[in-house]
Amino acid sequence: MKPIDFTYRFDPSQPIAKEPETADEAQRILEAGNRLFARWTDSCLRDSGDTTGPNSFIVPCTPSDLGMPTPEGLATKQAPFAALLGCSDARVPAEIIFGQVRNNMFVVRVAGNVLTDEALGSIEYALHHLKDSMRLIVVLGHTGCGAVSATVDTYLNPWNYLANAPSRALRSIVDQLMAPVRKSADAVRSVWGPNASDMPGYREVLIETAVFVNVVQAAYNLRLEQEQAGRTNVKVVYGVFDLLTHRIWTAPPDDSKATIREVVLARAPTSLEEFEELSVRVALRMARRVGKAAIARKEGPHA
Ligand SMILES: [Zn+2]
Repeated sequence: MKPIDFTYRFDPSQPIAKEPETADEAQRILEAGNRLFARWTDSCLRDSGDTTGPNSFIVPCTPSDLGMPTPEGLATKQAPFAALLGCSDARVPAEIIFGQVRNNMFVVRVAGNVLTDEALGSIEYALHHLKDSMRLIVVLGHTGCGAVSATVDTYLNPWNYLANAPSRALRSIVDQLMAPVRKSADAVRSVWGPNASDMPGYREVLIETAVFVNVVQAAYNLRLEQEQAGRTNVKVVYGVFDLLTHRIWTAPPDDSKATIREVVLARAPTSLEEFEELSVRVALRMARRVGKAAIARKEGPHA
């Protein structure tokens, strides 16, 4: 396997782009960053047997991005252009998967990316005190989320509530994830019918649907908060990071051949009806994708 580089590079001869002035511009920067990151990991995988030439992921930056003091000897002023609510999962480091540098993102990470009062308070701090640079709020979930999986297992077998979440603090996370899990179970039932829980792959479909529904719900709530606060210049978007492809999706891909072009963040729903419709659409795609694979696994290889 050849060397793989992840590099932060300051090149005085190549000035980097200025900070985004609009929410759409900020969104495009993050989408492009993840697209590049995913393409880099693709190339590392593809060339893993090749021992020539580096596989490099280069993130351009300025000296202040790396923490150098100002000419006056002061610390750099905090100036993120996006706030992010994400899961604490160690495999989903926000700045890396979006190809960003220090001081670009105000990151709040909590297991299951639940929108607790403290998480909301942190985001509001950024919006209030860093409003000159803040343009975007991102809610980011990820496939195979452990907190969502534990909540689904509790939903499927309530007797395991105390075993799955043995402390009050853990139960607080499971309790907050239960609403999106129940919503997802309803959505899966509307797709597969009343006997949905008997279908092969049901647990997996429920987990991955709940991952999406959870981020959409948090994005919807954050959008309402912005509306109520009268903030019109900050946009709320959401996405789900796929641990296998390293891409961020706003709806599960129908198959693994989905292209890099599909890396996008979606705007938060504007109504409960839209949230409802989206939940069912996600359940349908998950049921098709995961359910088909589960049926194939159960039937085994055909002669
Ligand atoms: Zn997680």
